[in-house]
Amino acid sequence: MKILVINCGSSSLKYQLLNPQTGELFAKGLCERIGIEGSKMEYENPAKDFEITLEHAMPTHKEALNLVISAIVNPEYGVIKSVEEIDAIGHRVVHGGEEFATSVLVDDAVMGGLEANSELAPLHNPANILGIKTMQELMPGKANVAVFDTAFHQTMPAEAYMYALPYEDYTELKVRKYGFHGTSHKFVSGVAQELLGNPAESKIIVCHLGNGGSISAVKNGKCIDTSMGLTPLQGIMMGTRCGDIDPAAVLFIKNKRGLSDKEMDARLNKQSGILGVFGKSSDCRDMEIGAVEGDARALLAEEMFAYKIRGYVGNYAAQMGGVDAICFTGGIGENSGKVRAMVLKGLEFLGVDLDEELNSKRQKGNVVLSKPESKVTVFKIPTNEELVIARDTYEIVNK
Ligand code: ADP
Repeated sequence: MKILVINCGSSSLKYQLLNPQTGELFAKGLCERIGIEGSKMEYENPAKDFEITLEHAMPTHKEALNLVISAIVNPEYGVIKSVEEIDAIGHRVVHGGEEFATSVLVDDAVMGGLEANSELAPLHNPANILGIKTMQELMPGKANVAVFDTAFHQTMPAEAYMYALPYEDYTELKVRKYGFHGTSHKFVSGVAQELLGNPAESKIIVCHLGNGGSISAVKNGKCIDTSMGLTPLQGIMMGTRCGDIDPAAVLFIKNKRGLSDKEMDARLNKQSGILGVFGKSSDCRDMEIGAVEGDARALLAEEMFAYKIRGYVGNYAAQMGGVDAICFTGGIGENSGKVRAMVLKGLEFLGVDLDEELNSKRQKGNVVLSKPESKVTVFKIPTNEELVIARDTYEIVNK
């Protein structure tokens, strides 16, 4: 069984060919600068320890996906003889709105639903839709499955997802909290549940910390709250996104600086977060170096970053009436022992007893970072969003 997973962005595209049952990865890579000069494709065949970067014109996603297919079937370094060996294609789709609470097999009605949700994710959904349309064209007859970033969070109760705005903003405009990174929260909370021994009841908090970041509260396997909102701007402080602020500050800054809507949007999404406070970079590693060197704004950004995540952990422990496990994932969550330790500092009252030595070691795979006597188990669990997409695709095409 081989599933091709496609994650289409506006000018980039990530892909993986994998076995959904064993997780075996056959090939993976990335196309960058689609529609821009200097486009290139990275391709990796892990079994052969083979990597190649091809510089090739990719005016549209069609050329990019054609290149991906050529690489996968390449007689020298490919992994399959023909595309017939691909059983189905799984697509990451950012916004499923309220309509899509689970992954779905794509048909005309689903395509209509995806287009309708583009309004909620104008930067992402159109690229995801384009990826599906292109694969339908390039591999007619193959099943395409849409897997949504928002779906896992659809179990949130209304009191968690509603904003205290005029009710018609919800009914007429669909303004509410949706949440994102759902495939990651689903995967990581699922692994944590297994590592806890599949108890009948469980209260798990997942901290997905990458360039974008979100926290979720998963009670008995179901998401009951998450930090991102209508868009991925809400929640914790991120690499370049501001996270939670007073909404009145948006209007204040916009008016005082005379910014257009687009400029204000860029300020909140691309110039804020770690970059905005630290000033030199949005990258956690650079912030950590800056802090070690005594840069006051790096130190402040680091403290703020941990403070905001800790706030969500406390909030979600309160909403679930306790917590059994806190999981860290994403580039920062998996790699920065410093951030993990700072986030958990002061949470001893919840029953968190971090093993500082274990936490500061670099270890591969799933790792328990708390002491054996800790009431709350702290995990580092590498996320695998592609595997969730492949598994969902496999399940749906085999129904
Ligand atoms: P994305 O959200 O784009 O998928 P990633 O999950 O790859 O991002 O996370 C990127 C972040 O992970 C960056 O801020 C980077 O600095 C951070 N990161 C990666 N490795 C380390 C490390 N060893 N220590 C601290 N931060 C790290």
